[in-house]
Amino acid sequence: MRVAVIGGGVVGLSATAALLRRGADVVCFEAGEPMGERSAGDTRIFRLAHVYPDMVELAARSRALFAEWNPEFVDNVGTVVSGPGAGAWADAMAAAGAAHELVDPGSPLLRLPARTFPGPALIDPAGGVIRVDLIRAFLTGMTTGHVRQAHVDALEETPAGVRVISGAEADTFDTALICAGAGTSALAAGVGITTPPALEHHLRVSFPIRPAAPEPLQCWITEPSEGVLGTYQHRAAADTWAVGGDIAPALVSWENGRPAAEQASLDALTAYVAEHLPFVDPHPTATIYCTHNPDLGDGLQFARQGRVLTTYGENLMKFAPLLGEMLARSSLDDTTPADAGPQG
Ligand SMILES: Cc1cc2nc3c(=O)[nH]c(=O)nc-3n(C[C@H](O)[C@H](O)[C@H](O)COP(=O)(O)OP(=O)(O)OC[C@H]3O[C@@H](n4cnc5c(N)ncnc54)[C@H](O)[C@@H]3O)c2cc1C
Repeated sequence: MRVAVIGGGVVGLSATAALLRRGADVVCFEAGEPMGERSAGDTRIFRLAHVYPDMVELAARSRALFAEWNPEFVDNVGTVVSGPGAGAWADAMAAAGAAHELVDPGSPLLRLPARTFPGPALIDPAGGVIRVDLIRAFLTGMTTGHVRQAHVDALEETPAGVRVISGAEADTFDTALICAGAGTSALAAGVGITTPPALEHHLRVSFPIRPAAPEPLQCWITEPSEGVLGTYQHRAAADTWAVGGDIAPALVSWENGRPAAEQASLDALTAYVAEHLPFVDPHPTATIYCTHNPDLGDGLQFARQGRVLTTYGENLMKFAPLLGEMLARSSLDDTTPADAGPQG
């Protein structure tokens, strides 16, 4: 079967690799650098912890598939979720049968760059740092010769199949899979699939870790509380702590423009680090920018129209190997995976 995959981010490359393993004839269309948009950068957080038990179970399946790819792809330092709602995350972990501990901020089980914070804290021992740099090398190797550098302008269903139109070129496939990140809504709308189109600017900022920090630092998600930002934080490189956060929507709105949104995010995250993280030096060393959809929660969503399947969601890195398998199977079977999380 000939399959077109639109988008060579981590989701599209994972699906391409899974389709190739099943013997499909695949072309992955990528407009820029593979894994150069929302999948850019060196690291992400892996966690089983979610507030929906079905997402915890899917994350456990994804964790096993990461280990099949290569056990070194997730650095298993653990992930902590802290704040007033940590109990609800613990309930979902318990319902899914996942190992976890709910502790107070003073617990000796915590290794975080802060001495105190609004608790309680959920420890997810299966969490850790996803080594995106290793995964990029792995997936580009697995898909060599199957990635075509081209911007897809439109898809069109015809009696002969799905036409993939790119500039003056067109190629016809038995089936097509849209995994185009920020480009998904526009392409999907052209074949009658509606996905949430809103975009926001998002910035993650890196700072030096101070030598006295506990080791090995756990990844950390803090819920917003008492006027303090909600954040996600983890070790990115050897001595680097990466922090992203829920900046006020007006400051990162699409209309605010990228430069102003980046500056507002940089200012807010630097102020957060200076005030709350004594083991991190509040002098930014690097940033990663991406677009983000404010209307998508921590879930997995799928839609099909005829022979075109699409997926969309946020925080998809941790699900990459599982999504690759699910999308490959459904592309070849003409089925649609069930949504999970808020919509599941
Ligand atoms: C700073 C930051 C921190 C994050 N933290 C986490 C985290 O801790 N844990 C986690 O699990 N996830 C995290 N995420 C989210 C995760 O990285 C993304 O959800 C995931 O990488 C998305 O992959 P994707 O393949 O869907 O999209 P992308 O990587 O954006 O890939 C889509 C690709 O499609 C291509 N494309 C778009 N339109 C077209 C077109 N018309 N024709 C051809 N090609 C096209 C683009 O060039 C792009 O390469 C984070 C993301 C960022 C940016």
